[in-house]
Amino acid sequence: MIYVDNAATTRLDPAALDAMLPYLSEGYGNPSSLHTLGQNAAGALAQARRHMADLLNCAPEELVFTSGGTESDNHAIFEAARAGAKAGKRHLVTTKIEHHAVLRPMERLEEEGFTVTYVPVSATGLVDPQDVEDAIQDDTCLVSIMTANNEVGTIEPIADIGEICRDHGVLFHTDAVQAVGHCPLDLHALPIDLLSLSAHKFNGPKGTGALYMRDGAALDGHILGGGQERGKRAGTENVPGIVGMVKALERRLIALDETTTQLQAYQKTMYDMAATIPHCKVNGDFDHRLPGNVHFSFAGISGEALLVLLDSQGICASVGSACEAGSVDPSHVLLALGLDTRTAMGSLRLTFSHENTQAEADTLAYAVPRAVEKLRSTSPVWRQMEEGALPYGI
Ligand code: PLP
Repeated sequence: MIYVDNAATTRLDPAALDAMLPYLSEGYGNPSSLHTLGQNAAGALAQARRHMADLLNCAPEELVFTSGGTESDNHAIFEAARAGAKAGKRHLVTTKIEHHAVLRPMERLEEEGFTVTYVPVSATGLVDPQDVEDAIQDDTCLVSIMTANNEVGTIEPIADIGEICRDHGVLFHTDAVQAVGHCPLDLHALPIDLLSLSAHKFNGPKGTGALYMRDGAALDGHILGGGQERGKRAGTENVPGIVGMVKALERRLIALDETTTQLQAYQKTMYDMAATIPHCKVNGDFDHRLPGNVHFSFAGISGEALLVLLDSQGICASVGSACEAGSVDPSHVLLALGLDTRTAMGSLRLTFSHENTQAEADTLAYAVPRAVEKLRSTSPVWRQMEEGALPYGI
């Protein structure tokens, strides 16, 4: 099997699993319990928090452990909006290419009377910081713009956007779920107030993540109940998950430079392959891009059909479309980049990790063009394109 769907999730790092096992077995105490077993778990939690803070260059108190990226995004958006509303500020700024964990909360807020400005992105998926500045109003309570896009891998100019937000006194949240562990991020240096991350995107366990809230920008708790996480996130802490997440992050960051070089080599193999396929387009930005991401559109075929064909050959990839309620819609990200619906539906995302090999990239470079050719040979849409009855679109 060749697994190239690492933007969806990654394999748990065996070292993270080893770090977790004691807390899944004999070290099962509740960190809020006062007895020794509980206090041992509390010690592990405190140690994990300090270590994660060191890795991200922030203070331990600025980290709130959550159940993952979705919860962190919801927390940041809903609580920033609630705090904003109290001060008479009911406007938010975001983009059309955010993950649904950001877009759905924004839509909910719109239903509740907030207004949201969606700043445009370029054809390669880049936000222009000037557009963010233009969108900010006197009543803006939050700007939420992702660090790296989960479909096309584009890395946004978050340092510049953060500076603008700071100048205007507006909170800046970034969904860094695809970036943490994959690109350098120094929370002390970056003008970020709120940042979401998720362990399973960097070889940690699923169902574990964190919300960074800069000192001075701390929001109220969103999940209410007990006093865990200093009242910022109720619920018994997922000690094994948190310990595993921090171990995984440590290992990804130690190997970051080496992994980046390794993944860029696979990326190049894929770009070279794309250049040999007629009417094929690489989506996203070439210069500002996650090293493991390659995203293509192929004229005349369905991405879903390509995925199924590749899966039958043991290749686990992904399409740039979301499947909702039984119907396949074109990806909102690709439409925001300006792709037409037909082109957007013929897309394939390959996301590599340090566990992939050059031999696997070479196998893909052999398999993908043949799969595309095979599908085109039976595609009525491709035939019409070849006959000039339909535009290729690419
Ligand atoms: N944000 C982005 C950019 C993502 O890619 C994902 C996961 O696909 C999420 C948020 C949601 O993270 P989680 O699966 O941890 O809830």
